[in-house]
Amino acid sequence: NADLAMYRAKHKGRNNFQFFTHEMNDEVVNRASMEQELRNALNNKEFCVHYQPQWSILKELQPVCLEALVRWNHPERGQVSPAEFIPVAEDLGLIVELGEWVLNEACSQGRLLIDAGYSIRMAVNLSMRQFFDPELLNKIKKALELHGFPASLLELEITESMIMEEVDVVVDTLHQLKLLGVSLSIDDFGTGYSSLSYLKRLPFDHLKVDGSFVRDIPQDKSDMEITSAVIAMAHKLGLKVIAEGIETHEQMAFLRENGCEMGQGFLLARPAPLDDIMKYLDVEMDSLGD
Ligand code: C2E
Ligand code: MG
Ligand code: MG
Ligand code: MG
Repeated sequence: NADLAMYRAKHKGRNNFQFFTHEMNDEVVNRASMEQELRNALNNKEFCVHYQPQWSILKELQPVCLEALVRWNHPERGQVSPAEFIPVAEDLGLIVELGEWVLNEACSQGRLLIDAGYSIRMAVNLSMRQFFDPELLNKIKKALELHGFPASLLELEITESMIMEEVDVVVDTLHQLKLLGVSLSIDDFGTGYSSLSYLKRLPFDHLKVDGSFVRDIPQDKSDMEITSAVIAMAHKLGLKVIAEGIETHEQMAFLRENGCEMGQGFLLARPAPLDDIMKYLDVEMDSLGD
């Protein structure tokens, strides 16, 4: 059955991922050693942050935000993907410390960019534990003050699946974050099960269409329908839309035709150290040139 095959292919990432973490739980019999490895990694400065630009795509093609994506350079294993170690760090609770470090990195790099004459929004991913950390607001205020980075240029990305937990806490925390002056985006949209009426209560600025919907455009007609419906729905809710995982010109054209304001993906720029990203910030491209 072709549909089933497509469905499996589409959900392969997630299934593999579950399989992988399950395997890893077996493999890492001694969780304490993994914990120690991750702890050492923070102390030994084995983490670094790469940045991937998010671009305005409708009129001018310009970077409007840099998303901070953490990287782990393990002395023996080499580069470990965040998809592998973030869930472990989350389980162990180490994500809170790691996430705070990423936040501070992003704010300090963002400050350097301002000093270099380039003000751009910096987006930081928040994990579940960070989001529900009672100290979250204080930590964000502290980071902004310490680095002299304006709240208005900080964006926090929260996944759709996270907002389905403890609704009252989520609504309250999101409103408090908005009061700080940061902007909020809902990440990986389409992979959770939030309802329209619930989304209406939440003070998000941006919605990020999950890359799994963008990936098979234009081959998969239902993904195209879902994507255009999500964009229309987001606009009705007053949200601007960012499409993740744009890899082809066809995907870009489709998203633009459907009024998607922003995009992010390998077609435009891969995540890289800030030094490498600087080249995108100097250049002003007036047209898409396609
Ligand atoms: P995410 O927040 O949805 O980030 C987007 C992911 O898509 C990144 O993977 C990025 O490299 C990848 N990507 C961007 N453009 C394309 C494309 O055109 N094609 C494809 N196939 N992929 C693309 P990455 O860096 O491996 O991060 C994976 C996930 O790990 C992130 O998904 C996020 O959930 C998590 N993560 C990364 N850094 C952090 C962090 O500092 N804190 C937290 N809590 N989570 C993080
Ligand atoms: Mg993200
Ligand atoms: Mg995402
Ligand atoms: Mg994702």
